[in-house]
Amino acid sequence: LVVLSNVNKHFGALHVLQDIDLSIARGEVVVVIGPSGSGKSTLCRTINRLETIDSGTITVDGKQLPSEGRELARLRADVGMVFQSFNLFAHKTVLQNVMLGQIKVRKTDQAAAAEKAQSLLDRVGVGSQADKYPAQLSGGQQQRVAIARALAMDPKVMLFDEPTSALDPEMINEVLEVMQQLARDGMTMVVVTHEMGFARSAANRVVFMADGKIVEQAAPEQFFSNPKSDRAKDFLSKIL
Ligand code: ATP
Ligand code: MG
Repeated sequence: LVVLSNVNKHFGALHVLQDIDLSIARGEVVVVIGPSGSGKSTLCRTINRLETIDSGTITVDGKQLPSEGRELARLRADVGMVFQSFNLFAHKTVLQNVMLGQIKVRKTDQAAAAEKAQSLLDRVGVGSQADKYPAQLSGGQQQRVAIARALAMDPKVMLFDEPTSALDPEMINEVLEVMQQLARDGMTMVVVTHEMGFARSAANRVVFMADGKIVEQAAPEQFFSNPKSDRAKDFLSKIL
């Protein structure tokens, strides 16, 4: 469903993505881990064109994303993204946050957008907060709204970049549970996270990055019990 082929990207002299080849099948959950600065966020951002690439190709459902224009907004909506900071519109209610993209990009009418927004908010467990403003919600609730907002576009794939890193510990699980449920429902997901419990229980595959390269990838049980590279062994010894 998502195919990166020989992707390279530089930030000035820094070769931040080096010859990245990665194929993600429909319904697959891929967890990306690796040291700080290894290029995990940049990888996510290139998939929906928040970052350009210098060479290689990226396709989502067989289509290459154009670099700009109306077509980009529509195709980008196929790729849902959830960030560490929730990025909700502060001056809009929770319900409006989840309605907006549907109306602007998918051209859904108000009533249908509101109905869908409410049902998605119910699904992620914040249905009773629909008329509040983001600042009135806890971090965990805001992040679940952000997930609902991304889902409202009927994305083909969801990207999560450290979605629980900014949360207080007691709120991490409520967000991970929503993500677990999404995974069980068959959503195709790319998840950058330090939550190894999530990786073990939800991932089909762990991709380990270091210095802009995919150093190794394997099923979680295999990766955690028997990492092949020294870089991965070293990384795991520090975090587990
Ligand atoms: P972390 O675990 O800390 O989030 P990461 O693996 O997500 O790290 P990236 O954010 O992708 O790493 O960054 C990879 C490298 O690219 C880092 O060295 C970073 O400083 C650099 N970098 C990221 N964004 C930019 C930018 N817009 N301009 C210049 N350099 C950048
Ligand atoms: Mg990052």
